[in-house]
Amino acid sequence: MARQLAAAGHAIVDSPEQADVCVVNTCAVTAEAERKARHYLSGLARANPQARIAVVGCYATLSPRQCAGFPGVSWVVPNADKEWVVEMVVSSPSPSPLSLSLEHGEGGRTRTRAFVKVQDGCDNRCTYCITRLLRGPARSRPLADVVAEVQALVDAGGREAVLTGVNMGSYGRDLGLPGGLRPLVEALLAHTDLERLRLSSLEPWDLDEGFFRLWENSRLCRQLHLPLQAGCYETLHRMGRRITTGEFARLVEAARVAIPDLAVTTDVIVGFPGEDEAAFRAGYDFVAATEFARLHVFPYSPRPGTAAIRLPGRVARQVGEARARQMRELGAQQAFRFRQRFVGREMAVLWEQRQRDGLWAGLTDNYLRIVTSTANDLHNRLTTTWLLAVQNDHLVGEVIG
Ligand code: SF4
Repeated sequence: MARQLAAAGHAIVDSPEQADVCVVNTCAVTAEAERKARHYLSGLARANPQARIAVVGCYATLSPRQCAGFPGVSWVVPNADKEWVVEMVVSSPSPSPLSLSLEHGEGGRTRTRAFVKVQDGCDNRCTYCITRLLRGPARSRPLADVVAEVQALVDAGGREAVLTGVNMGSYGRDLGLPGGLRPLVEALLAHTDLERLRLSSLEPWDLDEGFFRLWENSRLCRQLHLPLQAGCYETLHRMGRRITTGEFARLVEAARVAIPDLAVTTDVIVGFPGEDEAAFRAGYDFVAATEFARLHVFPYSPRPGTAAIRLPGRVARQVGEARARQMRELGAQQAFRFRQRFVGREMAVLWEQRQRDGLWAGLTDNYLRIVTSTANDLHNRLTTTWLLAVQNDHLVGEVIG
């Protein structure tokens, strides 16, 4: 949206106070995400009472009336109409030039790393999931469109693209393209000059071992986000996930053999209905044995209209939160160990921005966040960097080339 608006001649501003129009892209994946959207919307009108607000995304789809009730809201745009947001906002009368503040997203701001959506929607039936209900069936963008968009990003100075989608592994099925995501990745590597291509979340059952051969091309970033959701066999089954813990473990093993220094990151839900202490322990042990580079932990959030809401064995909120704390602690230890492995190594870092503390921050291809101190402008530069030490959630590095 930001790119389209900028292309139409509008200015993207840094804060809502400066904007004529604010586009707020909302999430509804958990009750907490909804609460944050509400909190944000109520603060926005106070920050800039003149601004007109467009609420888009999953919360706008789930609760359009509630969204319309916030002060300053001129448009509530459900997911089905999301592609028209730019036209709606631009075609209605407003002061000129139109300035927009984009919140909850970095699209359009950084040309270092851009997100490119390749599909939307999902045909799976995970029992806890409201996303598939709000986003509808899987639909893919034509391959040639994605290739053209990525090359346009490169022409505008971009060095890294991150492919995104609700269920990206199903890419191409609705278009009758055989081979899933693989032909798209191959086309992007063959027909664009992109230096780094990163894949966002992929459901593990959409991959086979042959998929990992794509990483013979070093322009593909060595990071795989494979949502596990539960490390307990029975819980996974009740979640309606199309994989077993054994299959997941074998897939991760094959990926690690094929791709040295790979970062495997994941999502885990704790406190799912029926998760007793033994099931939680089994899940914890599985995560401990798998050793992830980063772990996103969510306490189960019952969502209206999903199958899981009717399952017996509801876990008390305090129990779910205590399990989330334990799991997050394990995730922090694993992330620390992953970073520690790279101390003393030289790696390529794509520098993104100078932080408030004056230090530059960037990423390695395997998703290590690196921070360095220099007077030089490193924005959008790809440098060889010596990794010196782990500090909090990042590594400290020194640019050497
Ligand atoms: S794969 Fe499962 S969790 Fe992911 S969007 Fe589809 S139904 Fe939801």
